[in-house]
Amino acid sequence: MRLFRTLLTLGVCTLSVFAQDGKEKHAYQSDVARLRKIVINSLYSHRDVFLRELISNANDALEKLRLTSLTEPDVLTGAEQMNITIQATRDEDGSGRIIITDTGIGMTADELTNNLGTLAKSGTSEFLSRAESDTSGNGNLIGAFGLGFYSSFLVADRVQVASLAAKSSKNPDPKQYVFSSGADENSFDIFTDPRGNTLGRGTEITLFLKGDAGEYLEEKTIKDLVNKHSSFSTAFPIYLLTHR
Ligand code: ADP
Ligand code: MG
Repeated sequence: MRLFRTLLTLGVCTLSVFAQDGKEKHAYQSDVARLRKIVINSLYSHRDVFLRELISNANDALEKLRLTSLTEPDVLTGAEQMNITIQATRDEDGSGRIIITDTGIGMTADELTNNLGTLAKSGTSEFLSRAESDTSGNGNLIGAFGLGFYSSFLVADRVQVASLAAKSSKNPDPKQYVFSSGADENSFDIFTDPRGNTLGRGTEITLFLKGDAGEYLEEKTIKDLVNKHSSFSTAFPIYLLTHR
């Protein structure tokens, strides 16, 4: 059985919307625009998958860090722990956020741009052409391909990814950057995190939940989803932070 713990917190420092100094706007690669449209429009009834996809990315990032640390122990500087945290917050105006943080390998500004703004994956174009001709709407292709990061937009109308890459000989003094995109936008922004390097290392994904996605703020819903989809696929502890 894998580790699944609930911690109580007294307020974790997060910002609702970041100020955007030194902002760079990037257009999505055309394939990304197509994929996002498919994800947002036709996979509504499968939107639970967002959590599985984000946990699987966090797990991959931690696994990359672990492997890299065998030859470059410096990558562990900043945070010794290797874990995943899920935090659900309801803001005073009633809107909700889910924040998924990992202490994995992290991403530089270029990596945020290339990994989240382009589709490098083999098989993606096959997915796109099959998904566009799949009128059944039953989302059978999800299991076969996995939707990845863009499944965030099933439940969020804005996604902000703050990331601090691991220290390395090539990148001895990493800085924390933010990727930000709205579900309806054809572009995304990359900017220096105005909060500075708040993460010891790794990636923090903030989902600004759609009005009809409030169920994902419930502790039980999150626990059930993690147990259903991710309980045997991650090697690292997952913490759920709840406010009581
Ligand atoms: P896949 O996981 O199949 O490569 P995704 O769309 O899920 O596709 O993610 C795209 C890429 O973004 C990943 O390959 C990885 O390079 C990067 N990425 C996503 N989430 C994280 C994360 N939490 N930490 C580091 N890199 C990440
Ligand atoms: Mg993935």
